[in-house]
Amino acid sequence: MAIAGAGPAGASLAIALARAGARVTLFEKDAEPRLKACGEGILPHGVRALAEVAGGLPDGARVRGLRFVAGGMSVVADFPEGFGLVVRRDRLHAWLRERAAATPGVDLRLATRYAPCGESFTVGADGLRSQFHRRLPARAPVVRRVGLSTHFGGVEGIEDRVEVFFHEAGEIYLAPCGGGEALVAALFHQDRFHRNGLVRLLRAIPELRERTATAEQTTPMLAAAPLGLQVPKVVDDRLLLIGDAAGAPDPITGDGLAIAFASVAPAVTAIASGDLAEYQRVRGAIGRTAERLGRLLIGLGRFQGRGARALLRRPGLVPTLLDVAVARRPLGAATLLRAFL
Ligand SMILES: Cc1cc2nc3c(=O)[nH]c(=O)nc-3n(C[C@H](O)[C@H](O)[C@H](O)COP(=O)(O)OP(=O)(O)OC[C@H]3O[C@@H](n4cnc5c(N)ncnc54)[C@H](O)[C@@H]3O)c2cc1C
Repeated sequence: MAIAGAGPAGASLAIALARAGARVTLFEKDAEPRLKACGEGILPHGVRALAEVAGGLPDGARVRGLRFVAGGMSVVADFPEGFGLVVRRDRLHAWLRERAAATPGVDLRLATRYAPCGESFTVGADGLRSQFHRRLPARAPVVRRVGLSTHFGGVEGIEDRVEVFFHEAGEIYLAPCGGGEALVAALFHQDRFHRNGLVRLLRAIPELRERTATAEQTTPMLAAAPLGLQVPKVVDDRLLLIGDAAGAPDPITGDGLAIAFASVAPAVTAIASGDLAEYQRVRGAIGRTAERLGRLLIGLGRFQGRGARALLRRPGLVPTLLDVAVARRPLGAATLLRAFL
């Protein structure tokens, strides 16, 4: 069996399939693990799934919840259980690829693009621009957004929570990622995007201006666009898509990596049993909830962040939103939130 792509989805699936007795050739076009534009936070259900699949966790910063800030107001909401993990993407890729290469049954081929060569089954784990979208078409989101990310050393006041600042230009994220570094990421609507947008936002928000006054950028600024992707059909004859190749919510949900890791067990079951329709059902449901949550959160940032400020004025709603985000509660059951909207 072949897996195209040794990112988080492909590498973790290779480990799980090989442990279940399959022989897997894992193709990765890059020679070395690379950074990628990302908020780098894995939500608690993703951390649990990763630990189960990989038999451990990479080094990173454990976070206990989120701090939302809008227009000078802030609310803290901790995860109802477990912890989140922030890991630099190059380190996450290195760790997962080492584990995959050390798993009997996995043949990891770095610096090798996937090309079909008559294998019995293929998994597309090659990300947002998957080559398999020629066969299983993908739809870009209606709302066009752009993401930026980098790292800084010396940001003051970094604690064990991911901080989300809502601003009329977009959202900015601050998180510890280990070794005294902070991940700094921003998401913008395309029409408000500017190449220096992240640094401008750091200067525009008084709290961030003070906390980053002497901070130094330690990695290049990386960008990704458009954000989000819908892939209605994720299986076909002897083909299954996983991770971003199977669809991605807007990164405002912080859910892409958790979805990738949580899809591994259903994918292994489907491949072993041949019941690909069940994987289509499960992956479709996960994707729809994340997609709706994404639309809802993007809505909060609109109207000069008035939605976000209104939410923070009702702090009881924030844990409800977090329950949805960490997959404890379906979005339809969040009645309070629906009433608010
Ligand atoms: C700005 C931004 C912020 C984000 N923030 C978060 C966050 O905070 N938390 C979160 O959970 N998610 C976040 N995400 C989403 C997260 O980055 C993705 O969901 C995640 O990377 C998906 O992993 P993947 O393995 O499916 O794809 P990728 O990480 O894209 O990996 C695909 C792999 O396939 C390889 N590849 C591609 N084509 C080929 C080929 N032809 N042959 C061989 N190899 C190939 C690539 O080199 C790569 O290694 C964010 C995304 C963006 C854009």
